[in-house]
Amino acid sequence: MPLTANDPTRKSWIDVPENSDFPIQNIPFGVFLTRDDVITIGTRIGDTAIDLGAMHQLGYFKGIDLTDDIFLQDSLNDFIADGRKTWRLVRNRISDIFLHTSPGLRDDKEHRKKVLFSLDEIEMQLPVDVGDYTDFYASKEHATNVGSLFRDPENALLPNWLRIPIGYHGRSSSIIPSGTPVRRPVGQTKPGEDGVPGFGASKLLDFELEMAFITTATNDLGKRVSVEEAEDNIFGLVLFNDWSARDIQAWEYVPLGPFLGKNFASTISPWIVTLDALEPFRVDGPAQDPEPLPYLQQEGPKNFDIHLQAIIQPDGGEETVVANSNFKYMYWSMAQQLAHHTVNGCNLRSGDMMGSGTISGPTKDSYGSMLELTWRGQNPITLKDGSQRKFINDEDTVILRGYCENDNVRIGFGDCSGKVLPAN
Ligand code: MN
Repeated sequence: MPLTANDPTRKSWIDVPENSDFPIQNIPFGVFLTRDDVITIGTRIGDTAIDLGAMHQLGYFKGIDLTDDIFLQDSLNDFIADGRKTWRLVRNRISDIFLHTSPGLRDDKEHRKKVLFSLDEIEMQLPVDVGDYTDFYASKEHATNVGSLFRDPENALLPNWLRIPIGYHGRSSSIIPSGTPVRRPVGQTKPGEDGVPGFGASKLLDFELEMAFITTATNDLGKRVSVEEAEDNIFGLVLFNDWSARDIQAWEYVPLGPFLGKNFASTISPWIVTLDALEPFRVDGPAQDPEPLPYLQQEGPKNFDIHLQAIIQPDGGEETVVANSNFKYMYWSMAQQLAHHTVNGCNLRSGDMMGSGTISGPTKDSYGSMLELTWRGQNPITLKDGSQRKFINDEDTVILRGYCENDNVRIGFGDCSGKVLPAN
């Protein structure tokens, strides 16, 4: 099915500010609360939120096989379960309706009043009810840096890392939408000389610059998804800040891996940008050596060129960009991760979320966490207001941003932001 919605020459009758993340070529999906306290599924063009539930009731999706209430829900899970063909039909139809040459909604004042909202009239919610959340560890630079810092610089990368997309099962209950404050966690830390663990508010609170993809229901228990079929099962992506308490993590992570140092909060950007919208930004991934086992071998450009930034904003102060990375640095692609996740017959469900792991690039300013940027506090970062950071302070806001750009179009994700509150 053609992706007519991606046509870079298309323009909308809705105003789109210059450098907006949301031109008519994006058409992301999200869930919001309207000014009338109605929860609905919607999309966004420029700074206008669009109520897809209201549009469906008014007949704008006639001819597409959708249940009556598909958009009148508090999550996208059922819509995502409808599959890729339906996602494409709906996205193409939305594009057609908002094309500058399309009358219909454009010329119907009553309908526009029911369908269109300014951003200050809505409140973004979690876009999916996340059943299961898995976090991978797919950036070679990040794995090497963390291996050096936490273990042994001589053997930073463990032998399995180049063979397996390493991951662990995280916790979904604490995944929160952008704008939700994050409480500094309390926990145990490594013992000092007396052998007794420390206990208290984490002193080494960090962000992790990640992206996450959201799947449809892919396979029955016991079946697997091939690497060739994997992308058909990926609905879209969000920015993902996997907040991490490094001091809690360092004490607890052997032998079973991350636990309370990670599961107190993960912030996501609220608009899911579809994999279809990102199609023009496909690029080659890093060369994989040794060659992966056959079930992980993927042909063609398997990565996506998405510029990523991490920003610290002190309370009431100016923003400072502390990291510039890119999603294309991922060693293991999303398709490889999904194929690996199901190779043992593990079944994925609609709305499952897969974090990439921290995305660090090859240069020191492209590292995706404070742990790496400051080399565990040895090289503090100076913010624009002159203050220094080794890790994240109370009342700091951490903002992740991401966008793709070519000569014709820019597709972005909006903000993924969270303010740190003092520990209880
Ligand atoms: Mn992580």
